Amino acid sequence: MNHQPTKADRLPIREEFYSLQGEGYNVGMSAYFIRIAGCNVGCEFCDEKQSWTINNAKQKNIEDIVFKIKQNKAINVVVTGGEPTLYNLKPLTDCLKANNLVSFLETSGANDLTGDWDWICLSPKKKMLPKQIFYDKADELKVVIENEEDFVFAESFVDKMKTKNLYLQPQWGKKEIITPIIIDYIKKNPMWKLSIQIHKYIEIA
Ligand code: SF4
Repeated sequence: MNHQPTKADRLPIREEFYSLQGEGYNVGMSAYFIRIAGCNVGCEFCDEKQSWTINNAKQKNIEDIVFKIKQNKAINVVVTGGEPTLYNLKPLTDCLKANNLVSFLETSGANDLTGDWDWICLSPKKKMLPKQIFYDKADELKVVIENEEDFVFAESFVDKMKTKNLYLQPQWGKKEIITPIIIDYIKKNPMWKLSIQIHKYIEIA
């Protein structure tokens, strides 16, 4: 299926909130989250299945989204999904830049890259591998691990990535079993770091 980015002066927003980045390289950083609805990947373990459809999303003008970010006095903006690369995000990143906001993209890399980003977190998924450009442009790689086979999947990206910010993140539903295995793996393979979803542990959005 070929998903071309669509014109996106308006975006289907599933939710938006001001919180802390809970995972990956920028953990602990304050961030305004924009969760864009729609995903063409369809991971079985997805904990955001409500975001797969745009049926429950509100179509919002990007100027209105940015106005709300400024009202919250946020500086950092994390754009996530769903799979946000379904849309042409250049109008959004232009508007963020014009307002001196720092932009972060969370993506599986399954579709074309649009927009000018200050930071890209690539979280590749087996169902749709990333497009080549993300291996060059990503600032961090974050691979969700739910079983030992996933280490092989994670390793398959190491030589392709320009970044050396490499994270393994336990799949939340299997964290009790898989986290100790990941810790053991990282001790033997120290180029990796552990990413845990602290926002879920401390129960914030
Ligand atoms: S790419 Fe992300 S939002 Fe889409 S199914 Fe996979 S985990 Fe869920």
